[in-house]
Amino acid sequence: MGVGRGRLLRGEDDVGVAVVRGEVAAPESAGGRLSGVRLADASVVPRTALVVAPRFTARDEVLHSLGLEPVAQEMHGAVIGSTGPADPTGATAVAGVWVAGNVTTLQAEVISAAAAGLTTPAAVNGDLIAEDTRAAVAASRARRAA
Ligand SMILES: Cc1cc2nc3c(=O)[nH]c(=O)nc-3n(C[C@H](O)[C@H](O)[C@H](O)COP(=O)(O)OP(=O)(O)OC[C@H]3O[C@@H](n4cnc5c(N)ncnc54)[C@H](O)[C@@H]3O)c2cc1C
Repeated sequence: MGVGRGRLLRGEDDVGVAVVRGEVAAPESAGGRLSGVRLADASVVPRTALVVAPRFTARDEVLHSLGLEPVAQEMHGAVIGSTGPADPTGATAVAGVWVAGNVTTLQAEVISAAAAGLTTPAAVNGDLIAEDTRAAVAASRARRAA
């Protein structure tokens, strides 16, 4: 929650929403229903609905085991989750480890995750071809040198 309580924003960032600054301590209920939000300063903001921002945390056990450390992703200064960092092709800092979809791009939806599922394997294929080519060239040079 942000800005002075009850104040409607009217500036460049105006979204017409009253924002209350402060740390939320707990939801308040009355009669078995949400009645408000209690802040750390003990004040209560009456509410009938509450939306909680999710945190998108990559299932990173596999990334850890492969030596790739997930990094926190921020939006407007707030941590929204974690991802395995990669370049646009899905290549990570760990040779031979590639990632695609939400594990590396929190904002990805089905269509973009699926697109990455096409472009990343293509990049992996290119990497394997390059490796085969390097090995063939090295073997050829070794034969010539013998
Ligand atoms: C609530 C919600 C609503 C959404 N609504 C929409 C929408 O309306 N339209 C839209 O386009 N997108 C929507 N999305 C986003 C969309 O679901 C994702 O962008 C998409 O599923 C990402 O695909 P992905 O393959 O990267 O990851 P996922 O679909 O998450 O697939 C990853 C898979 O890997 C498996 N996995 C993880 N770790 C391991 C492991 N160690 N071993 C084996 N398997 C493992 C997981 O179980 C999972 O099946 C929504 C997402 C959420 C959470």
